[in-house]
Amino acid sequence: MVVGRLAPSPTGSLHLGNARTFLLAWLSVRSRGGTLLLRIEDIDGPRVKAETVAQAIEDLRWLGLDWDGEPVLQSERLEHYATVARQLCERGLAYPCTCTRREVEEAASAPHETGDDGPVYPGTCRGRYRDLEAAQAATGRDAALRFRVDVDAVPFADLFARAQPGRVAGDFVIQKRDGGPAYQLAVVVDDAAMGVTEVLRADDLLPSTPRQLLLYQALGLVPPTFVHVPLVVGGDGKRLAKRHGDTSLRSLRGRGVTTAAVVGWLAAACGLRPAGTRCRADELLRDFDLQRLPRGPFRGDEHGLG
Ligand code: GLU
Repeated sequence: MVVGRLAPSPTGSLHLGNARTFLLAWLSVRSRGGTLLLRIEDIDGPRVKAETVAQAIEDLRWLGLDWDGEPVLQSERLEHYATVARQLCERGLAYPCTCTRREVEEAASAPHETGDDGPVYPGTCRGRYRDLEAAQAATGRDAALRFRVDVDAVPFADLFARAQPGRVAGDFVIQKRDGGPAYQLAVVVDDAAMGVTEVLRADDLLPSTPRQLLLYQALGLVPPTFVHVPLVVGGDGKRLAKRHGDTSLRSLRGRGVTTAAVVGWLAAACGLRPAGTRCRADELLRDFDLQRLPRGPFRGDEHGLG
């Protein structure tokens, strides 16, 4: 049986772009009678406050989405990530790195290719320090932990985005200098611990997937099925953002827009219903078919909302 998850980063009220992803993740799992879990990705440091966590939960409920069991909070699982990072380091699969972002940029060979989070790391600290303490003692700086990548690519089959070349742009950070986990590590440790078998998310995260597959491999874990759906874009073809107006659910709600109008708009933006539809999320379950979604970016604002 399929086990999926909703994994919001609580950085304010959900906007139509993330609402669309969560609606699809919910539909995909619930239309098959599967289990859906909620994980709050609140490890982004001081920006995350208790009220933003409550806001994310309220927004999901307002959309008519539900989940099984209690929400899992990443901020309560920090020691698990630290343990796994340390083990990878002890096995020689990860290593301490004291380079600053600037140093990484300067050392990257020209013309430098960029990964999704900065330039490709040139491997400066590989094999330099025995452990975090040694790195600290040698440089007086706190060290991050980087995962060693000895392949160029991890091709994979995405259930929606199809065959992916899975290029991996160099050694990547799994533990930040402040000791907190990097997204790549936390997401793998949690999806595995929660028994997640399907990860449905927006395709801006496609470059992360090969890294996560390498972590699954290193940890001897079975990876989930990945389903990357196109981003919601505004009329200008760019990713839905502030310049397209305030599309946060809180603001829409404040302007008197109903749940039925928002869910109907999302359904229309995904090609599941005609424009102007008003409906509840559960009304989309009966004929939901992931493969019917359009392949290109979802044009959000053609349908009018509000
Ligand atoms: N928390 C991430 C987000 O809200 C999702 C991460 C994931 O699905 O792997 O964008």
